[in-house]
Amino acid sequence: MSSVQTQMQALKARASTCTACDLAETRANVVFGSGDATAKLAVVAEGPSAADNHTTFPFSGPAGDLLDEVLAANELTRADIWLTNIIKCRAASLRGGVLKNRPPKASEIKACAKWLDGELTLMLPSVILCMGAPAAKTLIDRNFRITEERGVWFTDTHYAPFAMATFNPAYVLRQEGENFTALRQIVIDDIAEAVRKLQEPIEVPKLTLF
Ligand code: SF4
Repeated sequence: MSSVQTQMQALKARASTCTACDLAETRANVVFGSGDATAKLAVVAEGPSAADNHTTFPFSGPAGDLLDEVLAANELTRADIWLTNIIKCRAASLRGGVLKNRPPKASEIKACAKWLDGELTLMLPSVILCMGAPAAKTLIDRNFRITEERGVWFTDTHYAPFAMATFNPAYVLRQEGENFTALRQIVIDDIAEAVRKLQEPIEVPKLTLF
């Protein structure tokens, strides 16, 4: 195991007992990132689903099946990327005695930033592909608008030289008919673009007197 993988395992172990925000009270498990900690492509989404909360893996429910499909369309598997979320515990509130999903609060995203920071600082991705607006607002620009800026490259972002956003597979799954087919294809194409970006040489400024 490489040093990065070992350090990522140690970070995961530390995160597994985190109680830095209220989500610790309703979660079943902390859902840390998974995949190849030495990958150059990081895929970052919003947060664990109800299924992930039990399996402990990101994208383990129906949205995960769709994620596997769109990766496979690019001859990728989860083992080729680092897959994670901006928060590591399921965002849910008790309503009528039942836990219902809800968007994470800004305070929860902030509390959880230390784990995302740890992951991305360790792996040093060349490309970050955000899945959905919450991840893009956290990693690209807090005013990010998915309808206008999806598929647009942002350079020199905090954690990677290149970052872009696409739709979250969970959102795509909620579409029907032609809309579903169109959005699914957009995500496939955006992943292809992220892979293409990985092949581009990263410009290192030359120190020269002339
Ligand atoms: S969401 Fe993040 S900060 Fe909050 S308890 Fe879970 S791991 Fe800790």
